[in-house]
Amino acid sequence: MQSHFPTGTEGLSETIPPRSSVNSLLSDNSAVCLNLNREALIQQIIHRNEAFVSRQGFLFTHTPAESTGRSPGDTYIVKDPNNEKLIAWDSANNHPLEREIFEGLWQDALSELEQRSQIYVTERVIGAESKFALPVKTITDNALTALFTLNMFRPIPHNIKNSILADEPFTLLVLPGCMIDTKRYQGRLRRLADGKTSQMAIIMDFKNRLGLVYGSSYGGSVKKLMFTAMNYYLPLVDVLPLHCSSNENKNRELALFLGLSGTGKTSLSTNPDRALLGDDEHGWSDRGIANFENGCYAKLIDLNPVKEPEIFNAVFHEDRPTRHGAIVENAMIFSDGCFNLSDDRLTPNSRASYPLSFLSNYKQSSVGPHPKTIIFLTADANGVLPPISRLGRDQALLWFLMGYTSKLAGTEAGVINPVSIFSRFFGEPFMPLLPEMYLDLLSRKLNEHQTATFLINTGWVGGPFGVGHRIDIDLTRRMVNAALDGKLEDVDYAGDSLFHLQVPKTCPGIPHDLLIPERIWSDSLLYEKRARSLAEEFSRHFDKTYGKSQISERIMRQCPGK
Ligand code: ATP
Ligand code: MN
Repeated sequence: MQSHFPTGTEGLSETIPPRSSVNSLLSDNSAVCLNLNREALIQQIIHRNEAFVSRQGFLFTHTPAESTGRSPGDTYIVKDPNNEKLIAWDSANNHPLEREIFEGLWQDALSELEQRSQIYVTERVIGAESKFALPVKTITDNALTALFTLNMFRPIPHNIKNSILADEPFTLLVLPGCMIDTKRYQGRLRRLADGKTSQMAIIMDFKNRLGLVYGSSYGGSVKKLMFTAMNYYLPLVDVLPLHCSSNENKNRELALFLGLSGTGKTSLSTNPDRALLGDDEHGWSDRGIANFENGCYAKLIDLNPVKEPEIFNAVFHEDRPTRHGAIVENAMIFSDGCFNLSDDRLTPNSRASYPLSFLSNYKQSSVGPHPKTIIFLTADANGVLPPISRLGRDQALLWFLMGYTSKLAGTEAGVINPVSIFSRFFGEPFMPLLPEMYLDLLSRKLNEHQTATFLINTGWVGGPFGVGHRIDIDLTRRMVNAALDGKLEDVDYAGDSLFHLQVPKTCPGIPHDLLIPERIWSDSLLYEKRARSLAEEFSRHFDKTYGKSQISERIMRQCPGK
């Protein structure tokens, strides 16, 4: 199936083992700037014109169009006998790459770095739980990338020796502005629509703990590479990695919010009344929940300072540039220094990275107890899923496996339609192992800790996109609070036999009619048709993807449309 990824290797240079060549680059090299602090890095960024300084003091940058988001088609995993049977190679996301091609690119990257008068090296860890922290050394020619790693990766804890991942640190080479010499890699890397070879590659070599980001200046490429690495290593030691945000209240009652991009992980977990552990990546071990990161990577499109003041202030507060260090990517700025966060001409995926410490309420340790509640987020643009429903165990596992949301896709005629996305575990591109490994871990943990599970639809109400509207975030917050505060424990529920959901008949602060989508559609026949069509998509996706797998019948029976 991977026919567009030919793997011939003839013509590539003889390679030296990747790790020893890194050591020789770094040793006794006056270009190396090792572990500069924030202030020094920010000075470098400004001095080298790598980013602009805003009126408020944060940094901002505009990246090339191909670097305004992740590039899944250019993301590869080095295939070797070690991981042959562990990785879900039948998933369209897991592109295998021959080791020789990776090593060729690795050497090219090192040759580029050798020519630089400055090389920035940061030593951090991924993972707030010291027992599972993965040391990561980032080597880059871009000071902004080095600052991004200070925002997003954690400082090395004093007891790092206790970590079972400490013996061999991960080494990450990042050359955001360097394009691959495509003559050498023609037919070996992705072929673009115009027949040319892609000049960008994001590659993981799990065995040797190496990562390479070549030609992508999207900050998310760096952070999601490390997330994917954690998601490979941790299930092998019984820790469940999750694409989720997490916060807890004063009684240490912890919540997780799982969901695909744009469904509200960052927005809904950033809450002045609940301390944030992290907004995107966590691990669930025998000890509880631990954030992997040090900061947030928030979407800026349409960010409303009244409705989301914590995120807004984390980015747009005023400070001395050398103390600020929030990094804004691809938001629209004008010559008078003003931003228009609704202007999506550069991309709808404008982002800001900032350390957790820029928020009014965050948990410094970033570790917490086992979750009391898990909320699955979906943004259904069909407007047919209830805004909140409770899930039983098997229902929760089914929705985790399906990872549903919808995306708004434009057609050539300019019509925008919702398209269903099924991305297992709400993050299939970052979950490289066989699906059973993640599913079994969640199943065991939900049983052991009696965690309550809900599904919240942050998408459309009153009709599909174009007819209805996206539900107000304040209403969603009220539903989230009701679920987390146990206010939905004793209310009556109605069963939804099409989607297999339990829908509360009442919820504090929410008009009753809003809870049942059909009631606020103007035409209930249209509702019925749309709901049935979505349920059938679920059923078809299940059959196609898991029809021949070992997924238990009990879970399968909870699939919408079955
Ligand atoms: P990513 O994985 O890409 O970081 P995310 O899950 O963190 O995505 P958010 O950054 O929280 O997603 O994006 C949710 C977006 O939807 C925000 O721009 C938010 O303002 C908007 N939004 C609108 N209505 C709602 C709602 N009812 N609930 C949550 N978010 C909403
Ligand atoms: Mn987010």
